[in-house]
Amino acid sequence: MAKNWYPVINHDNCIECGSCINKCQHGVYKKDLQRPEVIYPEGCIDGCHGCQNLCPAEAITYFGDDSGKKSCGCSCGC
Ligand code: SF4
Ligand code: SF4
Repeated sequence: MAKNWYPVINHDNCIECGSCINKCQHGVYKKDLQRPEVIYPEGCIDGCHGCQNLCPAEAITYFGDDSGKKSCGCSCGC
């Protein structure tokens, strides 16, 4: 199945706070790092903005996002 929604990190803006990594419960980010690394984009929930909403540096956008912010209703509490 083609993946059409996952986070893209702007490492020029990222301050490596780790919030996105700690937030996501879907295995998208590699754990035990402060510098976010997307290792499982297939795990990202279509329409979820959970990690972006926590990012203090506006360093997260989404591949596939063409409609602005919206809630997704997924089970991870975001
Ligand atoms: S958008 Fe949601 S599911 Fe996707 S990486 Fe961020 S917190 Fe995880
Ligand atoms: S939440 Fe934002 S600033 Fe913090 S590690 Fe993730 S991308 Fe970087």
